[in-house]
This record gives sequence, C-alpha cells and structure tokens, in this order.
Amino acid sequence: MKVSLSSDIGRQLGLMSIINLISMLLLFYLFFTAFSSTFYADKQQESKHLSGTAHSIVEGFYNLNLTHQATETEAKQMALLALRQARYDVDGYFWINNIDGIMILHPAMPHLEYSNVSQVKDGDGLLLFQEFIKQAKSGGGWVEYLWAKPNQSALAIPKLSYVTLFEPWGWVIGTGLYLDDVEQQKNAIFIKSIGFIISAFLLSTLLSIYIAHRSTQAIKDLAIRDPLTKLYTRRYLNETEDSYLREDSRDKSNRLYVLFLDIDYFKSINDTYGHRAGDEVLKELGKILQQSTRPQDLCVRYGGEEFVILTLGTSDEHIYQLAERTRQTIKKQTFVEGIKLSISIGIAKRGEDEDFPSALNRADRNLYAAKDNGRDCVVIDQ
Ligand code: GH3
Ligand code: MG
Ligand code: MG
Repeated sequence: MKVSLSSDIGRQLGLMSIINLISMLLLFYLFFTAFSSTFYADKQQESKHLSGTAHSIVEGFYNLNLTHQATETEAKQMALLALRQARYDVDGYFWINNIDGIMILHPAMPHLEYSNVSQVKDGDGLLLFQEFIKQAKSGGGWVEYLWAKPNQSALAIPKLSYVTLFEPWGWVIGTGLYLDDVEQQKNAIFIKSIGFIISAFLLSTLLSIYIAHRSTQAIKDLAIRDPLTKLYTRRYLNETEDSYLREDSRDKSNRLYVLFLDIDYFKSINDTYGHRAGDEVLKELGKILQQSTRPQDLCVRYGGEEFVILTLGTSDEHIYQLAERTRQTIKKQTFVEGIKLSISIGIAKRGEDEDFPSALNRADRNLYAAKDNGRDCVVIDQ
C-alpha cells in the first residue's frame, strides 16, 4: 500500500508537470511569434525616431546661426562634432552626405569624408547614396542595402537605413540597423525567456514534489499512527519488527528488549470519570511514553490501554531502570480531572534467533506476572 500510494501520486505529478511544460511552451510560442513580428517593426521605428533626433540636433545648431550666436561654418562644425560622437545600440552611428553626393560625416569610415560617394555601390550594385538622396528629398524613407560594420571585416551585412533631409543645409542625415544585430537581440530575448520558463518549470516541479511528499507523508502517518495517542499502530509494529530483529542480530552488544505496558484498573477509571476522560488519559500517557523513550525506540499502542515498546539495550539492568523510571513518572503524574493511575510492565529480552511473536509473548507473560504481583511494578526474566 505504501509503495502504490507514492508511485500513484508520482505518476500523476509527472503527468501534471508534462502538461504544465507543454502549456508553458505553447504560451511562449504564441507570445514569441507575436513578439517577433512587432520587434522588427519597433526597431525600425526606433531608427526612424533617432533620425528625427539627429535632425533636431542639426536644427538646434542651425538656429544658433539664425540668431547670430554662431556663423554658419561654426554652427555646421558644432553639429558635425555632436553627431560624430553620438552612438546608439551596439554599432549605431549617424552619417551625413549632402544632396550632391559628397560625404560630410561618416564616423565609422572617416576616409570617405569630403569624397563624392554618389557612384558608390553596395554588393548588389545599388547606387545607395543616390537612393538615400532620392528618399530624403521625397520626405524621408527607408533604404535596404549591404554595408560593412564599423571595426569589423569588410564583409557586407544587410542594413536598413532611414534617411531624412535637413533642407537649409542640403544634408541627408541617416541612421541604420544592421539586420543581424536585430536578429541577435531577438535571439538573446528568446534565450532569456526560455531560461526563465525552464527555471519556472523546475521551481514549480520541485514545489509540487515537496507538497506531494508532505501530503503522502501525512497520509502515511494516518495509516501508521494511532489517531488518539499519536503512537505507532500495531500494524506498523508488524511491518517494522523485522528491521529491529536485523539490528539486534547485527550488533550483539545491543540487544532487543520488548516492553509490554498495561494501565492498572483502567476500566474503573472509565467507569468513574467517563470514557472521554479515559481517552484524555490515554492521550497524555502516549506523550509521556514518547518523552521517556529515545527517538530510535518504537512506541506502539498495541490495544485499548496496552502499549509495547521496542528498544535496544546493553543490559537487563539498564532496561529495567528505564521501565522503572517510566512507571514512576506515570505514578507521579496527575492526569485530566485529577486522575492518578499506575501501570504494570513486563519485559523480555529477545533470545538468540528467537522470533518476534515469541519474545512478545514472553513480555506479555511477565506483564501478567506483574499484575499477579499486585500491579504497579516491573517484571523482567531473571
Ligand atoms: P487491569 O489492571 O487488570 O489491566 O484492569 P483493567 O481495568 O485495566 O483491565 P480491563 O482489560 O478489564 O479493562 C480495560 C479497559 O480499557 C476496558 C475498556 O473499556 C478500556 N478501553 C480500551 N480502549 C479504550 C479507549 O480507547 N478509550 C477508553 N476510554 N477506554 C478504553
Ligand atoms: Mg489494564
Ligand atoms: Mg488490558
């Protein structure tokens, strides 16, 4: 029963985790396809917006000239200086050529400056600067072409640029997106999101395993613990006695002792104080037995008001003292409604190769002997 309960829950948990993972991945797929389609468009808008910003910067310096705070040459120089230093994203820069095809500013390829680039073609043979001039004159627009990245090999990479015209000076101002950068940024977001999903999945799986473990433990406890006294049940004793026998056979100096305990005249307690008070007494007694024994000992509610303790000990004297102390503790205790009581204990040391029922029987016989001795005492084989 123990095994099938855990494996059943384990199977259901596994199934639930797989369903969870599939739903998470499905949601992620929907999110990422939507995200991918807008990501590129957003980047384009960003690039266009940057062109607008560069246009405003140039306009600012142009106005200095209009208001006579700078000569036209000075205003142009200041505008070029500002834009030469401006950078965005990883490789982003601004360039300016005039409407006659003369390169005015190119921070990534300064050797092109003041040369006529109107005949420069990209890898596909496109006269790109003529295309820029055309788009800029028509109110600004996008041009896609091949262009090398700054500070990298001459390998031309697809690039999308937005150009705008600053009419007073006849400047075509451009910004661009390297498409592989956009792809890389998208991939980085993809990897981060997948990492997040996997972490969330692992965390939720671990949490479910923990919760399932806690609940199966609680269910198992219900099966092996007596609900009234919280001591182990007789059924659990039957399940675990073998492990105590093994421990006993393995370590010859530490022998297995069986203690059989029974409350004296418990029937009269029930008769005098009622069954409920009797239950309370059993409950309190369970606590005392638990406290008087070591964690590795097994405390069992064997029947109504009968208890069995399995313990490993080095000598009869030692175990007798343990039983005596327990008997005296209970004798001194005042239970619910001022009830006082005593217990009798029979002890048997397991003989070499003796089976458990036989050792238990001998402990029970000694318990009877204790009762015959007038109760409230401990009897062990001499
Ligand atoms: P002795 O000293 O010979 O052991 O006398 P006793 O009265 O304790 O023994 P007996 O076997 O005659 O009575 C045991 C009583 O324990 C009878 C029964 O009603 C009571 N009992 C058994 N289980 C429970 C329980 O769960 N709750 C309560 N309140 N009483 C119980
Ligand atoms: Mg009794
Ligand atoms: Mg009894």
